[in-house]
Amino acid sequence: MADPKYKRVLLKVSGEVLMGEQPYGIDMKTVGEVADSVARAHATGVEICLVIGGGNIFRGLSKAAGDMERATADQMGMLATVMNALAMQAALEKAGVPTRVQSALDMPAVAEPLIRRRALRHLEKGRVVIFAAGVGAPFFTTDSGAALRAAEMGCDVLLKGTSVDGVYSADPKKDPTATRYDTLSYTDVLARDLRVMDASAIAMMRDASIPIVVFSIREENSFQRVLKGEGAHTVICAKP
Ligand code: UDP
Repeated sequence: MADPKYKRVLLKVSGEVLMGEQPYGIDMKTVGEVADSVARAHATGVEICLVIGGGNIFRGLSKAAGDMERATADQMGMLATVMNALAMQAALEKAGVPTRVQSALDMPAVAEPLIRRRALRHLEKGRVVIFAAGVGAPFFTTDSGAALRAAEMGCDVLLKGTSVDGVYSADPKKDPTATRYDTLSYTDVLARDLRVMDASAIAMMRDASIPIVVFSIREENSFQRVLKGEGAHTVICAKP
């Protein structure tokens, strides 16, 4: 039975999660683990939209981009998100979950075009919809893509699965005194420049009144726990 807390969710998985212990690229073992946890959540009846980043393969603002025009580098970054989306689709289907990939960049031989009403129908039929290529434009990131899709698909929450279990007062890898926030307001995150997600993504979620939950998807069963409001995470909403 579906957990009553959320009916429809959007899970954003950063590209860096998919590289596992490798320095870059796609680690199919890790992709399989993420897919298994999505499959377990899917089995409870919750409708799931997925947005996968691309930073594990290519980031527009990276050394590899050299002195390339930013728009071109960003287009390469968007193509990277399509590769990750296909890897995630393969892993989810292996786990027995029906899926569709919709790409914001038209690629009819590879993925469906982005059609909101069709995506809604997929969800109703119990398919996981993976949105690839972010918002489909350079100078954005997949965080903004995730926020946009969460708003247009009417999701109850945007879950950001990263390698850290929430938002900290400082970088927990560098500062042992850093503490994790349980809740924050959108305005706190923006005013204090906490860099949880892009400012445009936070502002969009504030305008749409959709809470953001930041958690570590690397920990076993963390996705299911966070869907029930359990486990380590930070909630970003209007009034903490
Ligand atoms: N990108 C873009 N427009 C979008 C989404 C992504 O130009 O709407 C490009 C951008 O270059 C970005 C790269 O794709 O750096 C990978 O996405 P992102 O950095 O969001 O991935 P993540 O950090 O989640 O792995």
